[in-house]
Amino acid sequence: MFRKILIANRGEIAVRVIRACKELGVQSVAVYSEADRDALHVQLADEAVCIGAPSSTESYLNIPHILMAAHITGAEAIHPGYGYLSERASFAEACAAQGIKFIGPTPDAIRQMGDKSLARAIAHRAGAPVLPGTERALQSEDEAVAAARGVGFPLLIKAAAGGGGRGIRRVMSEDDLLPALRIAQSEAQAAFGSPEVYLEKYIPEPRHIEVQILADEHGKVLHLFERECSIQNPRHQKMVEEAPAPSLRPETRRALGDAAVKVAQAVGYQNAGTIEFLVDADENFYFIEMNTRLQVEHPVTEAITGIDIVQWQIRIAAGEPLPFEQGDIAISGHAIEARLTAEIPEQDFTPSTGRLSEWTPPGGPGVRVDSHLYTGYSIPPYYDPLLAKIIVHAPTREQAVARLQRALHETRIAGVQTCRDFLLRIAHTDEFRAGTVSTPFVPRLLKGGVAGGVR
Ligand code: ADP
Repeated sequence: MFRKILIANRGEIAVRVIRACKELGVQSVAVYSEADRDALHVQLADEAVCIGAPSSTESYLNIPHILMAAHITGAEAIHPGYGYLSERASFAEACAAQGIKFIGPTPDAIRQMGDKSLARAIAHRAGAPVLPGTERALQSEDEAVAAARGVGFPLLIKAAAGGGGRGIRRVMSEDDLLPALRIAQSEAQAAFGSPEVYLEKYIPEPRHIEVQILADEHGKVLHLFERECSIQNPRHQKMVEEAPAPSLRPETRRALGDAAVKVAQAVGYQNAGTIEFLVDADENFYFIEMNTRLQVEHPVTEAITGIDIVQWQIRIAAGEPLPFEQGDIAISGHAIEARLTAEIPEQDFTPSTGRLSEWTPPGGPGVRVDSHLYTGYSIPPYYDPLLAKIIVHAPTREQAVARLQRALHETRIAGVQTCRDFLLRIAHTDEFRAGTVSTPFVPRLLKGGVAGGVR
């Protein structure tokens, strides 16, 4: 096991990783920007190093400064969390070049899956269903027109290097294709540094269901079942996730798990990762992408499997083999996570900042809160709006829904505007309670077209 790990991240996920380190008896090193001097991760870590100015490019994305911090403190490994440098193959390579273990997959796996059009081709070859579309980035406008005719309309133009729900553009008819393509390419260049885009058939009301993978460095690849992530804001950012997916047929669950393992094996995957699928009303499923990192919503999987994914990421990186088999992993109860963010859903998810005059998180049976907040904390304006993840676990889905409603009611936060009331609205709708939600749900709720209300 490592003696000391540096966490190249901030916010709730840095706190989460520090907690895993402490439970494993590993020393933790926080890094922080000048805007994060008072942050909780800085207070909880054994050591902390300032790595630069508030803007993320000068701090949490500053590879030379982060590697320098690792050297100064003698950290042997770096956990990248999610976002920031977690899916940058060049960072994983830079760590290796300096003799520091990157806690994650190999640079090669990151690179292959980081190109979403190549990932489709890999998944397809591995035997996972993919939607009609192109399996490499479009090379010319003529190719785009020909491919689009084959795929049919409506379709999506997606940035090959995209992520976080960005870089996706819907095209309804051939007339709109080339103008949309040009805009998509220039937006992809600006947002992701690459103009490459590909086409994918559009499914009108899909569910987003993803499978958690855990793979050691000795060839064992296991799945930890699925998460339902269909409650997404209009920008495709997840708001509420749960495990297992409600009312999924057991044979679909098995087939999803098998497909995910095959895709992971196809790239020699190591460490934790997630294979994402879209599922239609008949439970046909299609691979859309792989995230080669820890995900925000990992706690719901931890709740239903009893497996600490972050501790296993560290143990796998330290060379430990996974000591259990697929048949040893079982689903226990139902878990739901709600993301409390400093955003105002009714105002197009405008971000909010401020000083917290009160933060009283919920508690009681079956409630876990992953957060970096404390009363008196000032939320800096530079970073992600995620404030806290409220995770509930109960024997049945019905009890988990009631527990989520109760926990959200109990949550008291003042000094910043949040999406708490909107989460409560979601939790009380008939559709959510029935577990029949698909991805257009939140956009419809925002327009007032959903039944049920907060009692
Ligand atoms: P990102 O890498 O930005 O997360 P994804 O490819 O995972 O992008 O897609 C994000 C979300 O966009 C999905 O969860 C779904 O809501 C929507 N989406 C993606 N592909 C399709 C599709 N082919 N048809 C309909 N919706 C889609």
